[in-house]
Amino acid sequence: MPHRIAVIDRELCNPKKCPYICINVCPINKMKKDTIKKGEDDFPVISEILCTGCGICVKRCPFDAVSIVNLAEELLKDKIHQYGPNSYRLYRLPTPRPNSVIGVLGRNGVGKTTVISIMSGLLKPNLGLEGEVSWEEILNYFKGTALKDHFEKIANNKLRVSVKPQAVYNLTKLWTKDGLSLLNMVDQRGVLKELIEQLNLKDSITKSIPQLSGGELQRLSIAVAAAKDADIYFFDEPSSFNDVYQRLAVSQVIMDVAKEGKCVFVVEHDLTILDYLSDHIHLIYGEPGVYGIVSQVMPTKAGINAFLDGYIPEENVRFRDKRIIFDVYAPGTESIDTIPIVEYTELEKTYGDFSLKVRRGRLRVGEVIGVVGANALGKTTFIKIIAGVEKPDVGTVKSNSKIAYKPQYVTPPKERQNVKELLDNIAGRDVTSISEYNEIIVPLHVDKLFEKELQKLSGGELQKTAVTATLLQNTEIYALDEPSAFIDAEDRVELAKIIQRYVRSRNKSAIIVDHDVQLIDIVSDKLMIFKGKPSIIGEAESPLRKNEGMNSFLKELGITYRRDYETGRPRINKPKSKLDRAQKEEDRYYYITRVEGEE
Ligand code: SF4
Ligand code: SF4
Repeated sequence: MPHRIAVIDRELCNPKKCPYICINVCPINKMKKDTIKKGEDDFPVISEILCTGCGICVKRCPFDAVSIVNLAEELLKDKIHQYGPNSYRLYRLPTPRPNSVIGVLGRNGVGKTTVISIMSGLLKPNLGLEGEVSWEEILNYFKGTALKDHFEKIANNKLRVSVKPQAVYNLTKLWTKDGLSLLNMVDQRGVLKELIEQLNLKDSITKSIPQLSGGELQRLSIAVAAAKDADIYFFDEPSSFNDVYQRLAVSQVIMDVAKEGKCVFVVEHDLTILDYLSDHIHLIYGEPGVYGIVSQVMPTKAGINAFLDGYIPEENVRFRDKRIIFDVYAPGTESIDTIPIVEYTELEKTYGDFSLKVRRGRLRVGEVIGVVGANALGKTTFIKIIAGVEKPDVGTVKSNSKIAYKPQYVTPPKERQNVKELLDNIAGRDVTSISEYNEIIVPLHVDKLFEKELQKLSGGELQKTAVTATLLQNTEIYALDEPSAFIDAEDRVELAKIIQRYVRSRNKSAIIVDHDVQLIDIVSDKLMIFKGKPSIIGEAESPLRKNEGMNSFLKELGITYRRDYETGRPRINKPKSKLDRAQKEEDRYYYITRVEGEE
């Protein structure tokens, strides 16, 4: 007998605009049994015992608000938490291990934050039972497992926990003085000076916290979490807002904490970074907003490969129909069309103390140029100049088409509008009737957001909507600034492939600024590298062929890449490992051939 889950998304369900279609169409209701009925708060309530899982209400709900899922019955005993009737539920938990960085990988909405809240003691698990559950019941549930000790410590207030939350902007409300005073207060490990140095916080540490940029806030929050002396640490999305250099520095800080015998959990969507810093991986799979299942612990390589494969061999579970595949080498498109669609002379722009210089370059039809480099070197200014949003002080940009531009920071419009209305307006017709619906919207799951109001979208949902809205514009050139921000690892790979396919098949062109090296590696034909001194001077050479560009960029970072033998995904070689030394000697920082790597 399957174990049935019925979830109603209360953000989408709209009884004011819908005459309870679900209640009226349910065949079991027609047999005079109350499978779906109106609840006290007017939202429908589905009895998971009476429901046969026929799926009629799912198909007929005009707002896509109902999900019915059948899960194996044995999972019932593994239920850890359920937020309420017909709500999201979580099955199983990860296991803490001292001396280790444990990566947690899964799609947005499958329960990573719920896992952190429960494991850190912020949320008491209810085991899926109604009403208050006692600690005695919880400890009894975990009896004989590695989690018993963990929850015993939480129950007795003995677990010392340090959490770097996902939403770093909340720090501006909690502490309005400078970062140094905050760090001084929490530095129980006596590592303040090292953290300021490692995380390059020297210039920002004396500023008041509300003045800090997203990247500075992120690194300060990481420093605050790492400075505490705790038994267990949680870093929720530590890469957001940080550039590649900063991501590597953050990884080192996190690995250093684990080396002191601590248990560290990291939730991260940048697969290259997660791969680099984790010792083990737990996947969380399921359906966003409906349920999440935590996998057994796996070695990092096996865990990430299982994630890409959509199949966990040890558990014989397939959680995605298709595998995520990497093209081992996507050659540059020099020969597609020699006619440039955008051409720019040497460009210069000065703002206060900062000056930017860009060597001449061009963008060809069918080509994607990836733009990489540290923060505050003028990448966004360059993309704005190309898009015509900013004027250069010196130089000109000649373009054969209007440029559709997605800015780095996406904010929803003030007026109320849902996702479908926005996309219909841009397409000039019903967006489900155009070919981009199957090429872009469905693969990015943006169709699932159609009924949601733009103002109520999460960061990742808003980002995917903004990228889709940009690509739907009737033009030949797209300029996308940090399209990966807030979106999960699965959607990042999908997004990179969609952009590449779309640009090539339609003879369009794109310029993409991003800090996720894997996304840049998949999507780009050519690479532009920004160098200089952040906030003082930024310099960019003309676009290089991808091979050459990646080699130069990785050399600058001091890291070498190999290709995973099974999946073809790029992996950072362990510093000073045999491969790392050999590749550096050969000056081949970017490797395109699949090799057996060292673990
Ligand atoms: Fe209407 Fe769907 Fe809500 Fe049922 S779940 S009341 S069909 S909007
Ligand atoms: Fe009724 Fe079928 Fe919906 Fe279950 S899935 S509530 S049986 S309509």
